[in-house]
Amino acid sequence: MDKFKEMIAHRHEYAKAWKARTGGKVVGWFEPYFPEELAYAAGMLPVRVLAEHETDVITDKWMYAACYPVRDIVNLILRGRYDYIDGYVTVEGCQWMFNAFEVADNNKKAPFTHYLFLPDYTDAPTSKDVVRSEFEVLKGKFEAWTGKEITKEALDNAIEVYNKNRRLLRCIYELRRADSPALLGSEAMNIVLASQVMDKAEMNQILEKLLDELEDRKPVGDKIRLMLVGSETFDSRLEELVESLGGNIVIDELDTGSSYFWNETYPQRDRLMALSLRYLGRPHNPIKDSNWRRRPQHIFELSEDYHVDGVIIAKQIYCHLHGTDNYAVWKLLRERNIPFLFFERDTGLPEEDTELRLEAFMNMLRPGLTRLVGWHKAMSL
Ligand code: SF4
Repeated sequence: MDKFKEMIAHRHEYAKAWKARTGGKVVGWFEPYFPEELAYAAGMLPVRVLAEHETDVITDKWMYAACYPVRDIVNLILRGRYDYIDGYVTVEGCQWMFNAFEVADNNKKAPFTHYLFLPDYTDAPTSKDVVRSEFEVLKGKFEAWTGKEITKEALDNAIEVYNKNRRLLRCIYELRRADSPALLGSEAMNIVLASQVMDKAEMNQILEKLLDELEDRKPVGDKIRLMLVGSETFDSRLEELVESLGGNIVIDELDTGSSYFWNETYPQRDRLMALSLRYLGRPHNPIKDSNWRRRPQHIFELSEDYHVDGVIIAKQIYCHLHGTDNYAVWKLLRERNIPFLFFERDTGLPEEDTELRLEAFMNMLRPGLTRLVGWHKAMSL
């Protein structure tokens, strides 16, 4: 299990070695609506630009009061940590994340950059055609850049490799539904994060082997079952903190977690339309959901499926997307009487007082105490 955590820590070395081995290009992406299959079919390695905290004295020149993931990403880009990336692509989504793309673009950090428009109203009647045509433009740009046509066969292969990866990750998440799961939330998060920076065919082989091994693994023991919801995370430190307090995050609803792989592409003759429908139909992040507010119901269904004792809602400081959406999530959880705890954090660990609130919340969820104390008290701690 440790190898997934190591992979995230050594993802830059992995990508550089991949380039040296294959002679291919690496494409960095920021938003989960980026159609990785197009880059993969063009022979590239798509990698998610992950945040990682380093001492930062240069970001202030470029942006003021952005959320910490974006600040950390900008810091990493300006320091040259991502200099092996040959191209950056961003998709219309969070404005802060778009600014990170702009910093890379303005500083000429890669020879290829592209902005892809994707409507916020994903269910509008014209959206699937708009996105299909945007994907066609990106396909053409990739072809011009690499000098190679992206064939139907290459696209079919990419769709199958990515679908297989999603199915394998779903199998791993399925194991977490067990009363006493065979893996911890921190382990699951490291697996999903590693999937976003590795060659998918290679990752699929590792996941197949892992699933065999997990069949014989001893359960991690009875722990308080928790769900993690909120802004994206880039490591498993929060999960590890929960585990140190006697809990286990058995399911998440994060853009860097389950939402990354939850739905597949259904093949059809028009491959680009199939991809358009897949990305528009993925679990919605707040900015693509403001007209419908379907996200709270998805969170509720996951919490039921994984029979959680409570929900942790962790928002990155200055994350306006989740700040705006949270009222709808809180409302639904209150209506359904699901205990939850909300706090803000940065890309590091929560502050000490947050840790105390987390501990108190978990203590209230211990068998026998929930009814005695009342979950709503947890909110006022
Ligand atoms: S969604 Fe929130 S945490 Fe993520 S980049 Fe945007 S503001 Fe930052």
